[in-house]
Amino acid sequence: MFGWLRGLRAAPAIPEAAWQATLRRYRFLAELPEADGMRLRELAALFLRDKRFHGAGDFAITDEVALAIAAQAVRPLLHLPGGLDWYDDFVGIVVHAGEVVARRRVTDVDAVVHEYDEVIAGEAMEHGPVMLSWQDVLASSVTTDDGYNVVIHEFAHKIDMRDGAVDGCPPLPPAARTTWLNLMQTAYERFREKTILADRFGAEPPWLDAYGAESIGEFFAVTCEAYFVNRARFGEEFAELLGLFDGFFRPAR
Ligand SMILES: [Zn+2]
Repeated sequence: MFGWLRGLRAAPAIPEAAWQATLRRYRFLAELPEADGMRLRELAALFLRDKRFHGAGDFAITDEVALAIAAQAVRPLLHLPGGLDWYDDFVGIVVHAGEVVARRRVTDVDAVVHEYDEVIAGEAMEHGPVMLSWQDVLASSVTTDDGYNVVIHEFAHKIDMRDGAVDGCPPLPPAARTTWLNLMQTAYERFREKTILADRFGAEPPWLDAYGAESIGEFFAVTCEAYFVNRARFGEEFAELLGLFDGFFRPAR
């Protein structure tokens, strides 16, 4: 895949036809202003130069697969100072054909170990590779209205993890961090309340993946998906987070 990129220091431009095909698939990328689109393409080329894709089982990494992931993975970095440095703690991207069953082990407060299976569309490990299900990467092309995007989700975790804590807060100076956590916590609790009301009492489920109610770290990843793929609806549902996310992801120069 993209064999012509290997070993090069400067990332050459991505072929026009392949880039246009990717934009056609992902509306939220196609809708970017022209200058942003050019920057996105440069970042995607650097991502392809620096990262190594591995297909799980007999899944083949084609140019289409690598480019679809690269173009979406760099979207959160578009206006962030440092660009691709945000992802410099890992190299590997592991792609599975479909969802994966992960065996989980948790120890409860009584030191009893519980094991269970979890079906996942992706996973990000601190300083480790990002795992993605291609089936879900493809599905993101038609779930913009739902604010769903597995690639943005996993790379939002990577940004959250940069300061060592998966706490729903990206690296920030102390004062900004306090403000961030207060606003996120309030929005998280409100979201969680709504998912519980929907679950137990049949109320209207809130917009966005209920998985966001698992923890504040998941809430950050889930709200980032919505922020990047469906900003208008995100602003209606989470008005208090819109300015917060803009301040971080689009800092004034
Ligand atoms: Zn997650």
